Amino acid sequence: MTLDLRIRDHQFEPGERITVARSPNVGGEIAPSCLVLHYTAGRSLDSSVAHFMRPAAQASAHLVVGRDGRVVQLVPFNRSAWHAGRSTWKGLQGLNQHSIGIELDNAGRLVRSGAGYRAWFQEVYPAADVVTARHRNEQADACWHAFTDVQVETALDIAVALVRAYPLGEILGHDDIAPGRKCDPGPAFPMESFRAAVFGRRDDAPQRHVVTATLLNLRAGPGRQHAVLARLAQGLQVDLLEVQDGWGRVTLGGLTSGGWVSLDYIRAIE
Ligand SMILES: [Zn+2]
Repeated sequence: MTLDLRIRDHQFEPGERITVARSPNVGGEIAPSCLVLHYTAGRSLDSSVAHFMRPAAQASAHLVVGRDGRVVQLVPFNRSAWHAGRSTWKGLQGLNQHSIGIELDNAGRLVRSGAGYRAWFQEVYPAADVVTARHRNEQADACWHAFTDVQVETALDIAVALVRAYPLGEILGHDDIAPGRKCDPGPAFPMESFRAAVFGRRDDAPQRHVVTATLLNLRAGPGRQHAVLARLAQGLQVDLLEVQDGWGRVTLGGLTSGGWVSLDYIRAIE
């Protein structure tokens, strides 16, 4: 159930599982160079989104990913969201100015309570939803709310789309950039395999697409202001190499150096 993610004006296009809203908790323009993952330590996707929409929260993220794979975008990718707080990474200070932040709906750290496991907001979760593991910044095992498979897969689809669209060199946890102060997304999140999967898929062979318009303009650059190099017939297959603001750079069977087409008129072939 791979998500079809298209970025236009630094936002995902809304779809069945994707909603776009505008959090008031947003800063100035940024050129993101890394991706930072978090858990919400919250009760639900909706409660966390409601929190990030309140000015008094003074907090936000670019995206919130639900346990059912729904995604809410709250801040455009070229504006700073308020997710990292005091943070440093390889000489960078204040990662809000340098990163795209993704919050994963998850209750966070839990404590054993009778037959279940209790969150800080008093909800009790069954053992099946709990991972016992030691955080790499801590000395003892602890209990953590598990992420769902569809949630991790959705985050992976998002991360792949983002590293294709932006020069994101690293995927970090909040616990990497604010160690000691923050422990999310914590040991229940498969960070190592996630990083490997994202950077592996980014480098995948180009994806084959088919032209859906009757005649599709192949242009010299990503936009209607660029010269038309050729017109591609409906049904023609192209390889998508790169995506930028609703446009894709494609080649045709290795015959030409390629050009740019509107993503509205090509469709991926599974
Ligand atoms: Zn965090």
